[in-house]
Amino acid sequence: MKINTTKVVIAGGGTAGWMTAVAMCKLIKNIDVTLVESEEIGTIGVGEATIPTLQFFHEILDINEADFLRETQGTFKLGIKFENWKQIEHSYIHAFGKTGKDCWACDFQHFWVKAQKLGLTNEFGDFCVEQVAASLGKFARVKNNGINYAYHIDASKYTLYLRKICEQRGLKRIEGKIQSVELNKDNGKVRALKLSSGKELPGDLFIDCTGQRGLLIGQALKTEYKDWSNWLPNDRAIALQSTSVEPPKPYTRSIAHSCGWQWRIPLQNRVGNGIVYSSKYMSDNDAEKLLFKHIDGQPLTSPKLIEFKTGSRRLHWNKNCVAIGLSSAFLEPLESTSIHLIQRSIIRLLKLFPSNGILQSHVDEFNQQTAVDIEAIRDFIIMHYVVTERDDSAYWRYFKGIKLPKNLHHRLRLFEESGHICLKNGELFEDSWMQVLIGQGLIPKYYHPIVDNMSDAELKQFINMMKDRELKRANSLPSHQSFIDEYCKTA
Ligand code: FAD
Repeated sequence: MKINTTKVVIAGGGTAGWMTAVAMCKLIKNIDVTLVESEEIGTIGVGEATIPTLQFFHEILDINEADFLRETQGTFKLGIKFENWKQIEHSYIHAFGKTGKDCWACDFQHFWVKAQKLGLTNEFGDFCVEQVAASLGKFARVKNNGINYAYHIDASKYTLYLRKICEQRGLKRIEGKIQSVELNKDNGKVRALKLSSGKELPGDLFIDCTGQRGLLIGQALKTEYKDWSNWLPNDRAIALQSTSVEPPKPYTRSIAHSCGWQWRIPLQNRVGNGIVYSSKYMSDNDAEKLLFKHIDGQPLTSPKLIEFKTGSRRLHWNKNCVAIGLSSAFLEPLESTSIHLIQRSIIRLLKLFPSNGILQSHVDEFNQQTAVDIEAIRDFIIMHYVVTERDDSAYWRYFKGIKLPKNLHHRLRLFEESGHICLKNGELFEDSWMQVLIGQGLIPKYYHPIVDNMSDAELKQFINMMKDRELKRANSLPSHQSFIDEYCKTA
């Protein structure tokens, strides 16, 4: 069977555009890829914390990890420390690892709930090596040791790094501004992108990576955007880089305020900071003051205001246009999930790649899977705001009255009433739900009766043994800084 060459045009060269380009160049044959971007318009320039799935993306693309860390000034990330989220002055870490040991009938939290009732233990995180290592500032990339990790990266250096790889592989990059999107009169598909230079870029498949503008998917194809700001009312961020005053911590910090929250992302050479808030509850001026009050080190950049609206396209693939990145959906960066969603859409598109023309069944499947992914992460993020004791401002009280998405409502009830988390197949953040629910203060009322098969003395021994084991494993690791120095130098 003859396979035709597919002409792919990627509009936009932010993280979404270059990740798509590098994957297409490396993984698909019979394809002719052009990427157009405008330096004058620039990229959003944030997006510096990731989750562990990025390792897989880099593996399939043969990206050398040490090389990538050197080029992006990257550090390792074992999780996120949530400060002031459950209540002011309280903190917990959502780490990327497994907590404790499960049994066939139930997960570890059932054992922990009973142990806690008996006064045998307190911190759920003591049973997760990534969490213990994070709090000790330790890290090693020892795959067999089962340490699960992600990265902090410089977003602009990451796109330059991916661009370099693509250009080595022969991708065509065009510097220029897209002036209009030309549609076929008969079927409404995108025919070409018209640049301000007058040049036209025709294609078979167009990938909209133009960020929040959504030039193709939104402005040209009028694909509806579902507004989720009733659940997630934050609509602004201010970002700022500062000098480092200490060795990089192996975790992101998320510090809740009376309105919104602030991030701190430590890189090798600087720290990324920002505040995310709702303009209904806080002015830009107050947000900026709050941000400055809570940064260590000297500012390296001017504060950059970014506006957004939380939501998602009703279709992510419409006609011959696939939206990837912020053109497809916006979820606030509380759990650093946007780059993950980009990668998921890229892999999904490559699996369903239309080598012989676009099939509606492929389009429908792509849209259905993408919606499931985004909605699961949306619910996970909403949970942080509703499972909390905070009610010290109108902002926090707002969340007490919202009607939750059905799945989330069910999941919270199930956990509170029985300690069970029943995730759907392939759903992200399996252990994370437990860590965050307990960290935010939702302790199940009951535990599974199988736990009572152990006597109290046996339970105490089991709990202590596991706690000691994770502490020993974490203590055996080098400091995060010394690991980076060594790894980036020699690997
Ligand atoms: P952009 O970076 O905006 O790129 C758009 C591209 O389109 C640019 O190259 C631009 O030049 C081009 N373009 C637009 N219009 C035209 C035109 N007319 N002609 C030619 N080119 C054009 N994600 C995470 O995973 N982790 C995080 O920690 C994280 N933090 C975030 C913090 C904030 C405050 C925000 C707002 C987002 C954050 N994100 C995070 C999301 C992340 O930044 C984005 O998902 C990621 O950068 C991808 O953006 P993009 O490529 O879709 O869009």
